[in-house]
Amino acid sequence: MGIRIGVLALQGNVSEHIRAFERALDALSLKGEVIPLRNAEDIPRCDAIAIPGGESTTISRLISKNRMREPLKSFHGGIFATCAGMVLVASEVDDSRVEPLGLMDITVARNAFGRQRDSCEMPIVLEGDREPFPGYFIRAPVVESVGPAATVICRADHVVGAVQGKHMALSFHPELGGDLRLHIRFLRNLIEA
Ligand code: GLN
Repeated sequence: MGIRIGVLALQGNVSEHIRAFERALDALSLKGEVIPLRNAEDIPRCDAIAIPGGESTTISRLISKNRMREPLKSFHGGIFATCAGMVLVASEVDDSRVEPLGLMDITVARNAFGRQRDSCEMPIVLEGDREPFPGYFIRAPVVESVGPAATVICRADHVVGAVQGKHMALSFHPELGGDLRLHIRFLRNLIEA
């Protein structure tokens, strides 16, 4: 049957993540499917879930409205969280309108990356990888503190990427620009775990 990856489809960059994970499965010659995730009942049926970029205050509200909060908190698989997704998986956020899921031992500040510019592209050095990764930052959050359960994988002044068990959280948008290394890294780690 292979790996089932659900992309949380409440708001934000959904189709880009579906496409990137389909290509990453192909690149690894893995069988699987990537589905838009809209129903709480489908959460435990997934092996991995992507929480995309978008507006974290809106996604937080829709998670509650769609009764997805508890199933996400108790999800057994890996979470791939980008930008607004990173805000949502944190244990603490600097904005009371977001109710974080507390899945990762990180505290996050919203819209904190390069306040002077809304967005930018920047080469990011990934831990264990020689070639820089094209980081697309769009009103991006930063990790303000990393607890002992999480590990930093990239920085750009601030921490902009971390892993914890099967989960990965990134400030930027790896689903844009066609570089699949982080999707592949996430899937390899999921299989090994
Ligand atoms: N600033 C947004 C938020 O905190 C995230 C932006 C994005 O996902 N591109 O919700």
